[in-house]
Amino acid sequence: MLATVIHAARDIRVEEVADPVILAPTDAIVRVVAACVCGSDLWPYRGITPTTKPRRIGHEFVGVVESVGDAVSRVRVGDFVIAPFYWCDMTCANCVNGVSTSCLNGGWWGAPDRHGDFVDGAQGEVVRVPLADGTLVATPGMPAPELIPSLLTLADVMGTGHHAAVSAGVGPGSTVVVVGDGAVGLCAVLAAKRLGASRVVAMSRHSDRQAIAREFGADDIIEERGAEGIARVKELFDGIGPDCVLECVGTAESMEQALKSARPGGMVGYVGVPNGGAELPIQLMFGSNVGANGGVAPVRNYVEELLPEVLDGRIAPGRVFDLEVPLAEAAEAYAAMDERRATKVLLRP
Ligand SMILES: [Zn+2]
Repeated sequence: MLATVIHAARDIRVEEVADPVILAPTDAIVRVVAACVCGSDLWPYRGITPTTKPRRIGHEFVGVVESVGDAVSRVRVGDFVIAPFYWCDMTCANCVNGVSTSCLNGGWWGAPDRHGDFVDGAQGEVVRVPLADGTLVATPGMPAPELIPSLLTLADVMGTGHHAAVSAGVGPGSTVVVVGDGAVGLCAVLAAKRLGASRVVAMSRHSDRQAIAREFGADDIIEERGAEGIARVKELFDGIGPDCVLECVGTAESMEQALKSARPGGMVGYVGVPNGGAELPIQLMFGSNVGANGGVAPVRNYVEELLPEVLDGRIAPGRVFDLEVPLAEAAEAYAAMDERRATKVLLRP
């Protein structure tokens, strides 16, 4: 089968690799229908996290189950399934507590499992899925093709945007600012509105992304950043700032922007991968009573809540995909996202 391999910074290749097979009775083999490139895949692509040897990449996919191990009972051959950006059992204490990213038996795509057996990356034709009964969520029947991009967002970006909103305590009547206009930031706008926010302001400098933010329910857009951006936020929210700020970037600058934008006593929900040197300034937070809550999003715990709304069209987070390319052209997908020619790219095996 074909799968995407990163060899070094800016060196993405689609290569022939071994077909996965069932290795454990809890495994499933899934033929990928759609996968995508994540903003976090750009860290190794740009060389910010080093690639010392060629490795498989990609962690978001939806597909159809081709075979299952003897111990798999919830997921059946022929099911259309959503896989989160990690695999997990959904039965251990951490999964039950809503933190399936810390599953006591789970792990990551494109890396060895706990027996040392390789687990495929998501940007390929077929994936061996460990702990299939916990990891995978089947849709009722085969979804309409136009729903597939939105279903794919439940693997990561929509669940992650939702986690930012939940972590910040967004609820009916909340006022919200979203820092970051990547796919996660845009989904965070949608998530905040969905949870009942009375006013959502998106911070974005790109007209195409501003348009999606508006579609997702943003009431206003702020283009300024830094001190000017903070001043503009305060101005829009009674001179004090919003109740909740959703930090969806992960750099030192974006975290500072978020913490200084929230009103005193407000809460920052942070989901940006902190590869950019973000740290929490306790002195500032002490003085303002602004809190920070969040982390790597346990998106698997959110699928059951969000899936019905995707299926009946109440939310359409798949709008964040603005480019689709065949898997064979994965290198172009990375380049397009790196050069900001695309917000998020869907890959079709
Ligand atoms: Zn678990």
